[in-house]
Amino acid sequence: MSSIFRLEVGADRLATLTFDSPDRKVNVFTRGAMEELERVIQELGQRQDVDCLILLSAKDGVFIAGADLEEIARVTDPVEAEAGSRVGQRLFSAWESLPFPTVSAIRGVCLGGGTEISLASTWRVASDSAATRIGLPEVRLGILPGWGGSTRLPRLIGIAESLDLILTGKTVAGRKALKLGLVDALIPDARFLDHVRDFARDRAGKPRKDEGGLDIKEVLLEKNPLGRKVLFDTARKKTLQETRGHYPAPLRAIEVVRIGIEDGLRAGFDAEARAVAELATSRISKNLVHVFHLTEDAKRDKGVAEGEAKPVTAVAVLGAGTMGGGIAQLVASETDLPVRMKDINTDALALGMTHASGLFERQVKRYRLTAPEARRKMALLHPTLDFSGFARVDMVIEAVVERMDVKQQVFADTAAQVPEDCVLASNTSSLSIQGIGAKTPHPERVVGMHFFNPVHKMPLVEVIAAEGSAPWAVNTVFAYTRKLGKTPVLVKDTPGFLVNRLLMFYSTEALWLLDEGYRIEDLDRAMTDWGMPMGPMALTDEVGIDVATKVAHILHDAFGDRLPMPGWLDRMPEHKRLGTKNQSGFYRYEGRERKDPDPSVYPLLGLQPRVQDPDPGLIADRMVLPMVNEAARCLEEGVVRSAAELDLALIFGTGFPPFRGGLCRWADQEGLNRVLATLERLESSVGERFRPSEALQRTAEAGGFYARFPRKGQ
Ligand code: NAD
Repeated sequence: MSSIFRLEVGADRLATLTFDSPDRKVNVFTRGAMEELERVIQELGQRQDVDCLILLSAKDGVFIAGADLEEIARVTDPVEAEAGSRVGQRLFSAWESLPFPTVSAIRGVCLGGGTEISLASTWRVASDSAATRIGLPEVRLGILPGWGGSTRLPRLIGIAESLDLILTGKTVAGRKALKLGLVDALIPDARFLDHVRDFARDRAGKPRKDEGGLDIKEVLLEKNPLGRKVLFDTARKKTLQETRGHYPAPLRAIEVVRIGIEDGLRAGFDAEARAVAELATSRISKNLVHVFHLTEDAKRDKGVAEGEAKPVTAVAVLGAGTMGGGIAQLVASETDLPVRMKDINTDALALGMTHASGLFERQVKRYRLTAPEARRKMALLHPTLDFSGFARVDMVIEAVVERMDVKQQVFADTAAQVPEDCVLASNTSSLSIQGIGAKTPHPERVVGMHFFNPVHKMPLVEVIAAEGSAPWAVNTVFAYTRKLGKTPVLVKDTPGFLVNRLLMFYSTEALWLLDEGYRIEDLDRAMTDWGMPMGPMALTDEVGIDVATKVAHILHDAFGDRLPMPGWLDRMPEHKRLGTKNQSGFYRYEGRERKDPDPSVYPLLGLQPRVQDPDPGLIADRMVLPMVNEAARCLEEGVVRSAAELDLALIFGTGFPPFRGGLCRWADQEGLNRVLATLERLESSVGERFRPSEALQRTAEAGGFYARFPRKGQ
């Protein structure tokens, strides 16, 4: 009797095979599950009493989550990795060869190996529930679908759509899957099993006859060699542009898909297995799996000890600007709660509502919401100029202008309108949380809740516990952040908190390089080539040069000589060069589109671009190592609790390259002794600001960041 798969055969000759991983919330293809499935397939091959088999999941919200990550993380031998790929391929080919039709009944999340066994099934059906998401996210772990998925998918939905799914690792909802031809039917979630049985009964005992056909555009492109070449070349070019060659998996996937289409199934499977052997054992894949683990660990984090999170039932957002509008939309979108959005300016309110409605429209276009759902959620937003409705609110998120006096007043005024135990959260980027709450009755409920811009995209929220913040209030913000679909990281109420503090050391060094005669484009290119999503100068434009300058002053005041600023720092905002928002910054703009660097910046700042053939390695060291130096201080000071959380915060808050595994992990892999030696060299050649911190020296002596600052409970 099997323990993971349950086979039942009915009198109507319909069989169901139910996947139910014991002791796990989700179904995963562990080695044990694969072995058991193999035995089940052998048995099924012998049975004479089955006309059709349905593959089901016993787990709520999850069909099959994919392979066992621990096994991917562990494998270091390419031969073993290749064998692992071939085992899966053989198993799913045996599934495909069963003597009766099979139906994968996808309800909930279906990823990786789950999608691959579905592709080897005769039919696939999906529930129309929002929980149903189907995808092949392997490239996100630095590998590719290696159990036949890279080879089978293009045969089913065409090359272009397959590449889109495989190269991005994105998931699609049931409706979109139907449109792509990835599933054959969309089944109402209510009475799902009954409908699936009807579907299976109709097809019992019959081989599949394919009704689908490629449309004319597809025939032109996909069925002739020249068209295919165009498709693959375009994909390769786009991938190279997007990954700058840092992520080998998508490039290999393009090659594997090509081989599978041009040389046949067998060759495709071989190519998959060979690619997995190489990719799964690479440092990049190990780093990406590490980042995945960081996110999983973060999900278990509940915040601070001893403090029960309170339920949140109604929310108010103060300020309808860039951040407030985004936050209010997120509240409605993710938590379905009524949200009051208060501003002092009618135009700002109108803009905030337009911003929110634009975001909902986008979700509808991407099949994440239906149009009626989007309308219902939009109706949860109530713009207001006064405090009406605040008496029922239990969480306020403040996102008004970044001024201490304004925020203190706003908090004091709001406190008079809301219940005594209403949490008051501030989205400030740089002001002290304790300071903001100083004039508020019951300041223990004041907590920092620092979102990143743009709110709908950036997954991080720094939750800032001030000196007097009550644990229940901190944990309420923590829990609610997670409900919003964001990752909370607990940080201390110190200048710049964590992410902006580290980032300031990075972007200030870019200003010093500019001061020495480096060009804007050379600095940005060096860092995007290093893997940052945006160069430091473009980022400053994006953040807003006025905002960045303000934060620079605050942090310079806090850190003094450790963070010196060039004398011309204020000249950009003084000359109304504010960046993207007014289309005038380090770059030129057409509308909001960034064009070339603006050469008039240099004379404005009294600088002369003169460095020929800049060394990108040196530029990267100069910007990244000050962050490493400061990271050790942050950890010693307890600004953040562990190297793992620091790494996650920087990846989720700034897009620090995941393939490097995080700042601390990167530094550990480089070797802290090498890092210290480079800092010392830079100290003597460039300036004292590079002096290695004692914190970093102690960290090196202790064996590295992860050795010295492990996550609690690890
Ligand atoms: P913004 O200027 O776009 O919006 C601020 C809004 O607050 C304006 O609409 C203004 O009318 C309104 N406002 C001013 N006083 C008010 C009051 N008393 N009551 C209600 N509304 C009032 O600013 P933003 O970029 O959205 O920033 C808001 C906050 O978020 C700031 O504290 C900022 O530091 C922080 N923040 C900004 C970013 C970013 O990238 N923009 C990122 C993280 C955090």
